[in-house]
Amino acid sequence: MLPQPEALVIGAGPAGLMAAEELAKAGVQTLVVDAKPTVARKFLMAGKSGLNVTKDEDWETFVSRYDCPHLRPILRDFGPKEVQDWCRSLGQEVFTGSSGRVFPVAMKASPLLRAWLNRLTSQGLEIRTRWRWTGFDGPSLTFDTPTGRQTLAPKATILALGGASWSRLGSDGAWVPWLREEGVEITDWRPANMGFRVDWSPHMAPFFGQPVKGVALIAGPHRERGEFVISAKGVEGGGIYSIYRYLRDAYTLALDLLPDLSQYEITRRLSKMKPGDSAANKLRKLGLDRTQVALVMEFSRADPFAQLKHLPIPLQGPRPLDEAISVAGGITWDALTPDLELKALPGIFAAGEMLDWEAPTGGYLLTASWATGRWAGMAAARRFQEAPSRT
Ligand SMILES: Cc1cc2nc3c(=O)[nH]c(=O)nc-3n(C[C@H](O)[C@H](O)[C@H](O)COP(=O)(O)OP(=O)(O)OC[C@H]3O[C@@H](n4cnc5c(N)ncnc54)[C@H](O)[C@@H]3O)c2cc1C
Repeated sequence: MLPQPEALVIGAGPAGLMAAEELAKAGVQTLVVDAKPTVARKFLMAGKSGLNVTKDEDWETFVSRYDCPHLRPILRDFGPKEVQDWCRSLGQEVFTGSSGRVFPVAMKASPLLRAWLNRLTSQGLEIRTRWRWTGFDGPSLTFDTPTGRQTLAPKATILALGGASWSRLGSDGAWVPWLREEGVEITDWRPANMGFRVDWSPHMAPFFGQPVKGVALIAGPHRERGEFVISAKGVEGGGIYSIYRYLRDAYTLALDLLPDLSQYEITRRLSKMKPGDSAANKLRKLGLDRTQVALVMEFSRADPFAQLKHLPIPLQGPRPLDEAISVAGGITWDALTPDLELKALPGIFAAGEMLDWEAPTGGYLLTASWATGRWAGMAAARRFQEAPSRT
C-alpha cells in the first residue's frame, strides 16, 4: 500500500496543474496523476499553431463569450490580466496580436510547460504518469498503474480530466458513467469549435487545404469577419469556430465574399466590365481569389453574380465530437457547490473542460481551464487550513 497523499489531482492538463499549484503553494502535500505517459498533451498540441493563452479585451465582452454566469466570479479572480501576469511569472513574455489574442513570445506551449513543471516540482509536488483513474471502490479511488491496481483515499481530490475530444491526447470522457452512478448530474457532450461537413463536387479537390480570407461569415442574424479553411471533409478554422454555436443549433452558413463592397457598388463595377469577359474573369476583377471563385462556381454557377453578398454553403452537419477543438456539456453547475465541489461527493472537486461551459477559440478555453483549476485548488487548500491534518 502506497503512502496516502493529503490531496490528489487527477488529470495533469492546464486545469489540474493549476489546481495542484494552488495546493502546493498552500503547503498541502499533493500528488498529481495522469493516465498518459507524459503530461499536458492537449496543451502542447494547442501550442502547435500558436498558443493563444487569453484575449485582451474589455471585461464584459470577455466574460460574455462564455454565456455562463457561474464563471463570472471565477474569471473575475483569474482573467486575462492574471493569465498574462502568470505567464510572465514563469519567465514567458507575452504579446497581444492585432485581434486582441494574447500569445507567449515563444508561441509554443513547451517552454511555458517546462518552466511550470520545474516550479511545481520545486514546490514539492509529485507527478505520476501512466496512472489511469478507473472509478470508485467504496470511498476510495482506484487506478490502473504500471505496478498494478492502486487505491487512494485522500482528504481532497480534484478531478481535471478534460472534456471528450481529441481522446488520443488523454481526455476520453470515460469517467462520465462512474460519476453518474454516484449521483453527479452530467449533460451529454456536444462538439464545440468544430468543423462542418460539406459534400464537395470533384471540382473542389484542388482547393482542399486552401484558406478563404477576408470574407464575412453569416449564420442567421450573426455575422463575423474571418477566415476559414476548405478541407476534403468540409470547412474548419477560426471563422467557422467564431459562429459554430449558431451553425450547430439553428442556422445555415452563408458567405459575404465582398464584405467591403455594397451590392450597388458590385453592380456598378460589373456594368463597366467587357460583356465578353468570362464570369471567372469578372469575379477576379471584383477582387475574388481563385478559391473564392471556385466556391461561387460550386454553389452559384447558374448565376455567378447573384449571391456574392450571401453565398449559401450547404452544411451536412458537424464533424465528429472527437475532432472538435473543445466540447459543450459535462458536469452541470447544479451538481457543484460555488467552490466547485461535487455536491454528491464531498471532498471531490472538479475543474476545466469537464465542467459544463463552452466558449469560442481565442484564448477563452485555456483561461477558463486555468481559472477553474485555480478556484478548485484554492477551495480544496482551504479545507486543510480549516482542519489541519494530524499526520
Ligand atoms: C488542436 C487544439 C488547439 C487548441 N488551441 C487552443 C488555444 O490556442 N487556446 C486555448 O485557449 N485553448 C486551445 N485549445 C483548448 C485547450 O487545449 C483545452 O481547453 C484545455 O487543454 C483543457 O484543459 P483541461 O485541463 O480541462 O483538460 P485536458 O487538457 O484535456 O487535460 C486532461 C488530462 O486528464 C487526463 N486524464 C483523462 N482521463 C484520465 C483518467 N481516467 N485518469 C487519469 N488521467 C486522465 C488526460 O490524460 C489529460 O492529461 C486547443 C485544443 C486543441 C485540441
